[in-house]
Formats: sequence, structure tokens, C-alpha cells
Amino acid sequence: MMPPSGPTLPTFEQFQSDILPVIVHRWQQSCFCRNPQFCKLLSFNFEDYTRTPAALLDAESLIDHLIRKHFKSPDGPISTDGRIIQIWQCPQCDSAFRESYAEYSIAMSRAFLRPLNPEQQLAPTGHYLLGFHAFRDFSPAQVHDFRPATSIESFLDALTRPPS
Ligand SMILES: [Zn+2]
Repeated sequence: MMPPSGPTLPTFEQFQSDILPVIVHRWQQSCFCRNPQFCKLLSFNFEDYTRTPAALLDAESLIDHLIRKHFKSPDGPISTDGRIIQIWQCPQCDSAFRESYAEYSIAMSRAFLRPLNPEQQLAPTGHYLLGFHAFRDFSPAQVHDFRPATSIESFLDALTRPPS
């Protein structure tokens, strides 16, 4: 019997303890605001595909540990129409992102960011390690422009590549 092939993807705990610190460390050398993979990952919004609430855990972690801890928000959150809107500014390059946050149950919230500068492009396809946290009738197959990364290294390299 052959062992199962394919990449070993991290658990949520491993992502928090081993991968996030690498991302934050690389970000401190040079931000990723002009990296289309970074912008794409943070942009995931289930409403583009389905009415079933879903969060992309990779993006939620980055928003929690990179954006909310290291970016500036001069105006703070604004509550509007069942969601919370917040503008975040990169302290390195001043690029701004607009966060939209909403809660769907006690255990289900979702945030996503869209860049406000038109020069910040989104990659056509995003890659994730952790994947989705969602209500039961959500199907990742509906999300045609995000797929699992082939390895931790390829995920990190694509996400943290400095602007060329
Ligand atoms: Zn930046």
C-alpha cells in the first residue's frame, strides 16, 4: 500500500503557531499591499457565490493577526446595515483597505477586505491552506477562484512575495 500522497496541510493551531509568525516577520521587512495573491486572499466574500455564510479561515487569521494588529485605522469601525465597516491603512506604504465584518451566529463571523487603491490588483485565483468554516450547505466547489495551495512553501512564497 502506498501512503496517501499530496501535501501535508497545517491544522488551524499549526497555522497560528508556525505560519502566521513567518508571514508577520516577512511583512515587517516589506509589506504585501501590492501582491495580488495577498489582496485576493483577503478579499474572499461568500456573497460572491452563495447565500450560505462562509469564512475563509486563512483570511480571517491574517485579518486578525496582521491587519488588526499592525495596520492603522484613523476613523475606527462604523456600524451600518448589519455590518461593520472599517478602513485600514498600511503603516509602510499607506495603501488602504476597506474591511466588511458581519456575524451570522455565535460561532460564525466573517470579515473580508477590498483594496481601495485601483493599482492594487487581485490575482485571478487565490490559494489557501486552511479553507472554509461555513454553514452546512456551503460547498467549496462553488468557489471557483480559490483552491488549496500545493504546499506550505508555495502558499508562503506567493503570499509574501515583495512587489517587483
Ligand atoms: Zn503596504
